[in-house]
Amino acid sequence: MNKDISKELFEKAQRYIPGGVNSPVRAWNAVGGYPPFIKRGEGAYIYDEDGNCFVDYFSSWGPLILGHCHRDVVQAAMSAIEKGTSFGAPTEIEVKLCETIVRTVPSIEMVRLVNSGTEAVMSAIRLARAFTGKKKIVKFEGCYHGHWDPLLVKAGSGLATANIRSSAGVPEEIVKDTVVIPYNCTSAVQQAFDRYGDDIACVIVEPVAGNMGTVLPVDGFLQSLREITKDNNSLLIFDEVITGYRISLGGAQERFKVFPDITCLGKIIGGGLPVGAYGGRREIMEKVSPLGDVYQAGTLSGNPLACACGVATLEVLLRNNIYDEMEERTKKLCNAIEEIALSKGIKIVINKIASMFTIFFTEGKRVENYETVSKCNGEMFRKFFSLSFEQGLYFPPSPYETSFLSAAHNDDIIDKTISSMEKIFKGLKS
Ligand code: PLP
Repeated sequence: MNKDISKELFEKAQRYIPGGVNSPVRAWNAVGGYPPFIKRGEGAYIYDEDGNCFVDYFSSWGPLILGHCHRDVVQAAMSAIEKGTSFGAPTEIEVKLCETIVRTVPSIEMVRLVNSGTEAVMSAIRLARAFTGKKKIVKFEGCYHGHWDPLLVKAGSGLATANIRSSAGVPEEIVKDTVVIPYNCTSAVQQAFDRYGDDIACVIVEPVAGNMGTVLPVDGFLQSLREITKDNNSLLIFDEVITGYRISLGGAQERFKVFPDITCLGKIIGGGLPVGAYGGRREIMEKVSPLGDVYQAGTLSGNPLACACGVATLEVLLRNNIYDEMEERTKKLCNAIEEIALSKGIKIVINKIASMFTIFFTEGKRVENYETVSKCNGEMFRKFFSLSFEQGLYFPPSPYETSFLSAAHNDDIIDKTISSMEKIFKGLKS
């Protein structure tokens, strides 16, 4: 495969941008080599500067549920841009996006738009702390909530202990109120509340984790979070930046029938443009400025282009029930991969839900938390990634990520992917 132009661009990029990328995982450090520079996308495909074509299984890390350049989204962007790119004043389209969110996400009665998932999460936590008058945050190991300082932590050695900073530049005092516990471990949650209950403002969780690969909540886990937080006058925050409009129209909360106090959204609600949102019960959201005393603002918040693309995306999702079809195709692909792996004697576990999935190379039977994820075979993943890439399949370049199908991944594409998997697993075996 020719990658000369990408190579040249990456060398140039490294002169001007740290690591040559504007977000670290794009640099392919986990898989080696250098990334292709993408020129354009169409449906389920992306094309690089060297003219190579790939089936896109990372979907811009989740936003592109309709695939690249869906006609309605492109048209919405074109007609919005002709009217102006930003006003810093109220517009009808932002009301439409917020109204649609309130109509579709069960626990949201009011919503505030921001510019990224990170901003949504940090604003939600400020709000939770103000609403409860408490300080501590409980988060789960392996869940990612953006790059805000208090959440850049990894677990300490014991359950429900304080934690270790996972980035330089984060002062110790900033993470001292963050408690990190293992995902799917209700007893650790209970322990954290036994220890710090009076001072826990909120528990934040990815209701289906997408940032240690796809990891599903075990039966009763989300319900127990709901009950424990309620009993202790803490708030439950669902970070649905990935799962919102991905697991179902109403997100993971609709599918699992557990309803948080605050929900964070991003990705899909901007149709591929930069956006985020946090919303929840009216009495909580009424604390946000200018109604209440929790300050939060943004020059480009509710940007008309982002809102137009978001509304166009959500309208397609509302009009056509594409969720069942995407889930069926995801199952078909994952089942076929499992069969092929079995036939070649290669041990894998695939976690899947809706149009999200991750292949874990592991001897274990289940992958339910960060500890089991981190024991997976990194070398096998790297080999799998590069063999897939050679076959024109672009999976996320890290074993800790989720692959996504879009509505544009039709049966033909899935069948061709399955045929390629025969070759890929044969290569893995040798
Ligand atoms: N929350 C979750 C669950 C995410 O997956 C991400 C990003 O991938 C974020 C928050 C941060 O969003 P952003 O990258 O838009 O700041």
